[in-house]
Amino acid sequence: MSRKIFIAGNWKMNKTAAETKELCEALKAKFASFCPCKAEVAVCPPFTSIATAVEALKGSNIKVGAQNIHWADNGAFTGEISGAMLKEMGIEYVIIGHSERRQYFGETDETVNKRIAAALKYDLKPIVCIGETLEEREGNKTEEVLAKQIKDGFANIAAADMAKVTIAYEPVWAIGTGKTATPDMAEETHAFIRKTFADLYGAEVAEALVIQYGGSMKPENSKDLVAQKDIDGGLIGGAALKADSFYDLVANAAL
Ligand code: PEP
Repeated sequence: MSRKIFIAGNWKMNKTAAETKELCEALKAKFASFCPCKAEVAVCPPFTSIATAVEALKGSNIKVGAQNIHWADNGAFTGEISGAMLKEMGIEYVIIGHSERRQYFGETDETVNKRIAAALKYDLKPIVCIGETLEEREGNKTEEVLAKQIKDGFANIAAADMAKVTIAYEPVWAIGTGKTATPDMAEETHAFIRKTFADLYGAEVAEALVIQYGGSMKPENSKDLVAQKDIDGGLIGGAALKADSFYDLVANAAL
């Protein structure tokens, strides 16, 4: 089974609308001759920059995503954004359960589960983040933690919907720290994640599931990471904020 490489940039709380326009125009030019047959590429700007990104990337091969979604259709949820609002903006993807949301904003496996269901309801493709902390890895708890995040995060999510889902395995200790899991270490964990999904949904669904690696992926290491059997791309923070580094990272991984 050959899975398509998928690389998405998570811009986090970076880039005003004006900066978004500049970066998207640079990306559009850089990726002009990049065949979408090589890899799916997306950027996920802050909510306030989504409209600008959609407009600036029209006619390019670069898709746009959001960084969060609320589970309710509408209502008294000050500061939140619904699936209908995101869908109307013309985006395709939404990141769910990023470790920064889990760490700073009280995200749990249960709220991740509700957000996945909302994304699917509005025909948005969820990029669901899972990963262990340094303490959990050093305490040999990695598999236990990931298994729980998967089991609880995907409770009642139907096998038929899994084709729309991407998993981003992001060891928390590797995010924004410059520390990357070695390709072998990441591959071992990706294989475990795929097996866990196989136990839940069967081998066919698990084999088709795109599992990105995230955590200090950059142009220098993207090739070796994505060359691993169960690593199908990346969710990129810091290196996605400049057109040159994002392009080089994608090109090294996918060309
Ligand atoms: C992320 O936060 O999703 C991420 C992978 O960040 P960085 O690439 O900067 O480690």
